[in-house]
Amino acid sequence: MLKPKKIPQRQCVGCRTMKNKRDLIRVVKSPEGEISLDFVGKKPGRGAYLCPDGACLARARKTKALERAFETAIPAEIYEALLAQMEAANGT
Ligand SMILES: [Zn+2]
Repeated sequence: MLKPKKIPQRQCVGCRTMKNKRDLIRVVKSPEGEISLDFVGKKPGRGAYLCPDGACLARARKTKALERAFETAIPAEIYEALLAQMEAANGT
């Protein structure tokens, strides 16, 4: 019998669904308080995860889920960078 491989699961802050960590986009708040996108999943700091889906991003923005996760304001550029990243990931 095959043993299922354990893949780390993280919750999307938009739709609140648990997904494989590697299928999500990581947003990270550095120890200096700077918000950025983490493409390699290794940046230091507190992370939050989002599906590569514009609907999840829109929901997270509306509910201020990222603001709450990081306890700070999220600059508009971060939302724009996330959206651009999602569009690139979806090939549109
Ligand atoms: Zn989601």
